[in-house]
Amino acid sequence: MSLLELKSIVVRYGEIEAVDGVSLVVEAGEVVTLLGSNGAGKSTTLRAISGLAKPASGDILLEGQSIVGLRPEEIVRRGIAQVPEGRRVFPGLSVRENIMLGASNRRGLKKSEIRREADEMFDLFPDIRRFADALGWTLSGGQQQMVAVARGLMAKPRILLLDEPSLGLAPVIVQAVFAIIAEIRRRGTTVLLVEQNARMGLSVADRGYVLETGKLVLSGTPTQLWSNEEIRAAYLGGR
Ligand code: ATP
Repeated sequence: MSLLELKSIVVRYGEIEAVDGVSLVVEAGEVVTLLGSNGAGKSTTLRAISGLAKPASGDILLEGQSIVGLRPEEIVRRGIAQVPEGRRVFPGLSVRENIMLGASNRRGLKKSEIRREADEMFDLFPDIRRFADALGWTLSGGQQQMVAVARGLMAKPRILLLDEPSLGLAPVIVQAVFAIIAEIRRRGTTVLLVEQNARMGLSVADRGYVLETGKLVLSGTPTQLWSNEEIRAAYLGGR
């Protein structure tokens, strides 16, 4: 049984069919990357999984159990955490407080334990350790992305959903963020990643899917995807 399975998911915004019959699987331990250009429906697919967008039809199974219709908090509690596009770090909270918020789904934890776990996150994100007490707004884009990922991990998810972690970041910072994604996988967390940057997105992936105007047009290993010239030119930008 797959850890996560989407079966013919359809999500509409009014007349727009943002996601049009998407079926995909994510196996435990994998990094799976969802590629596609602007507006292809990548974010909406993630939002459907995390319960933020309601599918008009289709099913989403977590270890064989349907999670469609559950509230987003319940979906987090069952083990799916989303790091949204745009990072959304709270500007008036410290970095540590921002990270601690990620544990709000885990009942019965003492604040001191959450704080200790948040501080342990800095082992994975050494670049932000010295900003633990700094306010969110003082951070650079790359540092904010790291805080957002750390916050997602505080939920102790079985699957981490990452929406465009490279967006707006300088190349060297993008490299650092992707090194962290590889490390997260090594530590045993499954990752479903949305990326426009195909080269980076596939560099850490076991498998990838390509979305175009709401429909999946291709799937395969990174090598298979890169070897398809037509697809490479059309969807992967040849980058
Ligand atoms: P991006 O990288 O730009 O976020 P994407 O592949 O993630 O692109 P989506 O954000 O999922 O694409 O958008 C898919 C389609 O749904 C687009 O046509 C978009 O304009 C539309 N859409 C997305 N969100 C909404 C919304 N809240 N209301 C109306 N239409 C929306």
